[in-house]
Amino acid sequence: MARYLMLDVDGVLITGRPSDGRAWHFELSEDLGIDIEWLRRDFFKVFWQEIVMGRLDLLPALQTCLDQANIDTPAQRVVDYWFAMDSKVNQEILDQCQGLRTAKIPVYLATNQDHLRANYLMNDLNLSAHVDGIFYSAELGVAKPHPDFYQSITDRLGASPAEMFLIDDTLKNVSAAQQAGWEAHHWQGTQPFVDVIATRF
Ligand SMILES: [Mg+2]
Repeated sequence: MARYLMLDVDGVLITGRPSDGRAWHFELSEDLGIDIEWLRRDFFKVFWQEIVMGRLDLLPALQTCLDQANIDTPAQRVVDYWFAMDSKVNQEILDQCQGLRTAKIPVYLATNQDHLRANYLMNDLNLSAHVDGIFYSAELGVAKPHPDFYQSITDRLGASPAEMFLIDDTLKNVSAAQQAGWEAHHWQGTQPFVDVIATRF
């Protein structure tokens, strides 16, 4: 049986805009005058892997991109917009996590994030009140689905892989967790969360 629940964030606990669950950038062009295709190509494709592994800081990297494209929206404004528009929390999952924690099953976020959004999730969105902690790529120096991501978590917890249960919406992260000896479930949002955890603990 598993002893720890590891929760992916984006696509599981959080899905897009608080108002409608759409992607955070759905109205980015109307709201900030920034083209998402440009942002994907010139920023995310070039810098994101380094940022998410903690080797590069989000704000200065984004500011450089904006400056080079002569876009006068400050990087801070883009990041504030992004984080606010990517913050619809699944309350059912939080409620179920509370039940697990009451039953002495620790719940952690296990997620690919840069330092700023990890901090936003825990402190601004106050997820720190609902989980026991967060393991995130920029802090671990390695991202899912690399095997070291999973290994660093069990090392830090002093747990064995068989005690871990991951819920993640990205299949390759789930497969990598299973390769690492974890139990893992591919979340597709079609099944009640309570059913997914029912027989695992
Ligand atoms: Mg995800």
